[in-house]
Amino acid sequence: MPLIIDGKAYSLHVENELKQRVAVIKEKSGKTPVLATILVGADPASVTYVRMKGNACERVGMSSQKIEMSENTTTDELLLKIKELNENDDVCGILLQHPVPKQIDEHACFNAICLKKDVDGVNTAGFGLMSMGLPAYKSATPLAIMSLLSHYNIEIEGKEAVVIGRSAILGKPAAALLLNENATVTVAHSKTKNLPEVVRRADIVIAAVGKPLFVKSDWVKQGAVLIDAGYNKGNVGDIDLINAASKSSAYTPVPGGVGPVTIAMLMKQTVEAAEKLL
Ligand code: NAP
Repeated sequence: MPLIIDGKAYSLHVENELKQRVAVIKEKSGKTPVLATILVGADPASVTYVRMKGNACERVGMSSQKIEMSENTTTDELLLKIKELNENDDVCGILLQHPVPKQIDEHACFNAICLKKDVDGVNTAGFGLMSMGLPAYKSATPLAIMSLLSHYNIEIEGKEAVVIGRSAILGKPAAALLLNENATVTVAHSKTKNLPEVVRRADIVIAAVGKPLFVKSDWVKQGAVLIDAGYNKGNVGDIDLINAASKSSAYTPVPGGVGPVTIAMLMKQTVEAAEKLL
């Protein structure tokens, strides 16, 4: 029977630890740590994600400052808001919900978040530090994946890891973190040839594609670890887990796998940022 990597349970465990750390911060500083969340426009999925992050702040005893900006916001307006938050001593972390409307230069806005408040790990300089194995806040979903692998004692060193997807917030940083843990890493993307063959050699499969049930059971090597970071309409991930899970040695379910831990990692990095202000 494969091991179910229970992200929901692990996220509760992390949150319980964070509650205690937040209580200490409050006692020492007399202040409640604040995560600023910026939502530009009203994309329904983004509205839900920001609400979930605000709720998580409350669960661990922090507060969230919700900044909602109109669909027509310009890059300059958003940069100005980020500058204000960078300079606001009451705010210890800044989350800019991805994606922003098309007219905005998202990259420039991510890079405007100062490193010490970049608790969602979106700044390019932070990515560079993280890739070099140096201290930096990490992109939350790749950090969630690494934390789950570590929590469940899944060996990474020397293993063949195939990451499907190369986005700046997920595939690329996940590949860098796996490489730092001495996996042999292949990053696959839409131009990869013979993807099923590439996936078949993986001991660890990280699916970060954004296509429902994309990874088929016959692509999966017997005993592989399946990490499904995808979350698609119909509450399904990127791996056809109904058929593939039984071939794996361990897998993350969808929902209840990587998703809840991603939010817990955002909280964890926000708490770390608040602790550094003490
Ligand atoms: P994204 O920016 O759309 O990137 C998707 C990646 O998949 C791209 O690199 C793309 O390749 C690759 N791809 C697309 N079609 C492919 C194909 N036929 N074969 C191989 N690779 C292919 O998506 P993302 O933001 O990384 O998100 C990926 C998934 O993770 C989504 O389901 C999203 O909802 C989920 N997600 C979950 C969390 C969480 O908290 N659990 C957080 C973020 C995202 P190219 O680069 O060549 O285009």
